[in-house]
Amino acid sequence: MTDVAIAGGGLAGLVAARYLAGQGHDVTVFERADAVGGRVRSREVDGFTLDRGFQVLFTGYPAVRAELDLDALDLRGFSPGATIARPAHRSTLADPFRAPTDAVASALNTDVTFMDKLTTLRLRRALRSEDPETLFDGPDETIREYLVRWGFSEAFLSKFAEPFYGGITLDRSLTTDAGVFRYTFAMLTRGETVVPADGMGAIPAQLADRAREAGAHIETGTPVRAVDAAGGEATVETDGESITADAVVVATDPHAARELTGVEAVPTEARSCVTQYFALDRRTLDTGRKLILNAAGERPNTVAPLSAVAPEYAPDGRTLLSAMTLGDPDAGDEELATAVTDALVTWYPEHRFDALEHLATDRVEFAQFDQPPGFRDDLPAVDAPDGPVYLAGDYTEWSSIQGAMQSGRAAADAAAEDL
Ligand SMILES: Cc1cc2nc3c(=O)[nH]c(=O)nc-3n(C[C@H](O)[C@H](O)[C@H](O)COP(=O)(O)OP(=O)(O)OC[C@H]3O[C@@H](n4cnc5c(N)ncnc54)[C@H](O)[C@@H]3O)c2cc1C
Repeated sequence: MTDVAIAGGGLAGLVAARYLAGQGHDVTVFERADAVGGRVRSREVDGFTLDRGFQVLFTGYPAVRAELDLDALDLRGFSPGATIARPAHRSTLADPFRAPTDAVASALNTDVTFMDKLTTLRLRRALRSEDPETLFDGPDETIREYLVRWGFSEAFLSKFAEPFYGGITLDRSLTTDAGVFRYTFAMLTRGETVVPADGMGAIPAQLADRAREAGAHIETGTPVRAVDAAGGEATVETDGESITADAVVVATDPHAARELTGVEAVPTEARSCVTQYFALDRRTLDTGRKLILNAAGERPNTVAPLSAVAPEYAPDGRTLLSAMTLGDPDAGDEELATAVTDALVTWYPEHRFDALEHLATDRVEFAQFDQPPGFRDDLPAVDAPDGPVYLAGDYTEWSSIQGAMQSGRAAADAAAEDL
């Protein structure tokens, strides 16, 4: 008999495994895929490190600080702020406190208004020291409504907020709950935006190592087909085995969690994205380590100079760019790749992009769950299922690395208390 069975080895499941094993429970994680990580994975293609979709780690996230050994991840940082790009025009916008070297360029930026810059500083002062627990408190409103209420101009919304926060929430219409904006804005002021030198997959790899060190077993390639609870015990069915446990933590993606537990409150409406990777000869764009925002169109929403941020992501002498298009477009991979090349050509008319090599396209249908205003009121609690069954996943908090890790910890605490 296993004390605790965990279905799913994404961030939430791995964090739960470590805590429960650390408390002396016999813990086994059953992961459907051939490796842990769930939505956070990396692979190697022709010597390039490709994350499964463009994603970054905010070191300001409290759960990230609590769960990870950040030094061991050998982090590489983006420069604060962004390059705003439109045809034959690029400008820099950054927080002068965090990027003093960009302070003059930001002060001179005419893509947004002087009032926008002052309002950003006011917002920074208001949110910077707020308790993370209360950042989601506030009226049910969209990010757009919140920014308009603060007095930001239409230019700020269309040229900066739509591509930048649209990229974070995978929703360029800015109809996501304003709490997601407040939380991420505050974290951007409190820490750095980074990727591990070995790719984002190093994050779940470290969590898995820590869970194993605590005594947990991790079985990959083992899908959980059913979870049943009766009489203070629970049973987990895998292909060919029936495992009885004192507690089961369902840490799968939302669709599977709803299917396994029957909890209807698990949100399954998806936000999707397409990330395309491109190799270039050794020419760095003048964005340095800043994200490029598409201020003139939606394809692509952003371009990330990945190898300028983390040289380890590309073989010597090569440059790696990633371009993210939001949603689940009907357009084929080559059509989307051509849109990326066309955008780069208009933003950088002084460069040639004939040698841009399309390395790969990642279409992620379920990247985040939809988070409309007030979404948190309807999310399931970690102990929502009947019997000794618990939910762990970003969908019990909010769709992010922070939400997933926080949920894993909360599920472990709830299970430990009942065991
Ligand atoms: C492209 C992309 C970009 C993102 N960008 C960011 C970002 O920049 N910053 C940020 O904070 N967050 C970002 N996110 C969101 C973040 O990655 C997720 O919120 C988080 O990883 C979710 O973790 P999880 O453990 O809750 O779920 P998941 O990662 O979905 O893990 C669930 C696990 O359960 C497994 N599983 C499913 N069914 C079964 C079964 N029946 N039996 C056994 N195992 C099963 C799956 O294989 C998976 O490993 C992004 C996500 C994507 C995809």
